[in-house]
Amino acid sequence: MTTPDPFADWWEKPRRPRRNPIRHDQPPAIRTEKACVTCGTAKPLADYHKEACRPDGHTTQCKPCRNAARRVVGDKYLGARKGEQHTSAKLTADDVRLIQALANEREELLAQARRITNAALAEKFEVHRNTINKIIGGRAWRHIA
Ligand SMILES: [Zn+2]
Repeated sequence: MTTPDPFADWWEKPRRPRRNPIRHDQPPAIRTEKACVTCGTAKPLADYHKEACRPDGHTTQCKPCRNAARRVVGDKYLGARKGEQHTSAKLTADDVRLIQALANEREELLAQARRITNAALAEKFEVHRNTINKIIGGRAWRHIA
């Protein structure tokens, strides 16, 4: 026994008619202003942020209403626990200061180390820099481990 194919007659099923049928007898209406869903006042489209997914390419809230709403979302994080107050914090403020100090010290040491070039060593020992290159490359003074 075979199961019936659920898509066998999909093209024969009647389609739901469009809610807003396309009017081919008149040009599409171009809106220059609309009402904000929050404050309800009619404003020109320039007073709405752009949003490509919307049919008219603009948000449903006007700019002042949208800015106010987003400010509320941002305020939610203002009272959030920070640093040691955070319940799962492993570090203390002193730990973080020490990490920053050690990282700064490392950067200074790296800068000092970068100044010790082969040319600088050659100048210090009054030899040609090729001699330094050979010593470092194991091609001179090989009996010194
Ligand atoms: Zn508004």
